Amino acid sequence: MSESNARKRLLGPDDARDAPGAELEAPERIVDPQDTLEDEVYGASLRPRTFEDYVGQETVVENLRISIDAARRRGEPLEHVLFYGPPGLGKTTLAGLIARALGANFRPTSGPTLEKPKDLVGILTALEEGDVFFVDEIHRLGRVVEEFLYPAMEDFQIDFIVDRGAYAKTLKLPLKRFTLVGATTRAGMLTAPLRERFGIVHHLDYYAPEELERILRRSAGVLGVPIDDEGATTIARRSRGTPRIANRLLRRVRDFAEVRAAGHITAEVAAEALQREGVDELGLDRLDRAFLRTIVEQYRGGPVGIGAIAATLTEDAETLEDVVEPYLLKQGFVTRTASGRRATPEAYRHLGVAVRASVQERLL
Ligand code: ADP
Repeated sequence: MSESNARKRLLGPDDARDAPGAELEAPERIVDPQDTLEDEVYGASLRPRTFEDYVGQETVVENLRISIDAARRRGEPLEHVLFYGPPGLGKTTLAGLIARALGANFRPTSGPTLEKPKDLVGILTALEEGDVFFVDEIHRLGRVVEEFLYPAMEDFQIDFIVDRGAYAKTLKLPLKRFTLVGATTRAGMLTAPLRERFGIVHHLDYYAPEELERILRRSAGVLGVPIDDEGATTIARRSRGTPRIANRLLRRVRDFAEVRAAGHITAEVAAEALQREGVDELGLDRLDRAFLRTIVEQYRGGPVGIGAIAATLTEDAETLEDVVEPYLLKQGFVTRTASGRRATPEAYRHLGVAVRASVQERLL
């Protein structure tokens, strides 16, 4: 038997596909928290329209509502708000809810689309008093654009330099007082001057399974799909603490349920549908398992740098850091040390691989 066949036998047919370096079958990841395309096409109706529909993140919501009430009472615009946390946790949704609660317009854009100051000028000068200007992925703003934003945020004006050399003059263009809501998955990548210009900063964290169940029940109601409690629990557990993923898994399970189970979502139907998608009982997909297997099999449990893992998997290191690793860290499958990533005994257990004696010693 060839070595690769031996490995296949050892790992089982499904796991062989998760092996490091193996072709990852699905080009798109059903558990990708950054993939907003499906959201836009099918998910619009699932986005909460009021704070009452927004599940979880209670402290953030409560504090925001107080800030909004106070601003309204004073007849002033709300201070600039920064949300940070992993993708798909409801930052854009919250920004929209703020605008609604303020009775203001919502103007969404994103950092990478604002390439030049002139892109920004057009938007800023069109803002009305109190409008919410939302900048997603604000850490990806270009430096020049970012510096242009400082006086806009601080003094509600923009500075133009006209002419050159000895004739150069700065013209100040006043703006209406607006509220900038920024969202980022990487607060650490924001420059200090930008961060300091936000009066309100909130961190969004992963959702508890019970919260995801509530979101799923609400979404199933909106979609008109019958789901029982165990069905919701089964999907919630595999949703990686992320509402966007919960809703996407729900749509896939619904398709399966319609074809195979008269449309009704039970625990069995959900489990079978998601297993077919390569999503295991903890919400890990092939890429997650390949990430863990790389550390365990190729690098003897670590420590190994993210660049080496990325090269083995032929994936982008930043993507791995943003969308794969956070959940594995959160689940306790990986630890980050100064010398690199290490797999924990839980990772070995989850993969069904015996912990190597040397690793065991090190972990004790
Ligand atoms: P982010 O901006 O953090 O990437 P979004 O605000 O776009 O995330 O949320 C993704 C999707 O998840 C939304 O379309 C919405 O359907 C759902 N969602 C997010 N947060 C919540 C929540 N707290 N309650 C209910 N649904 C939510």
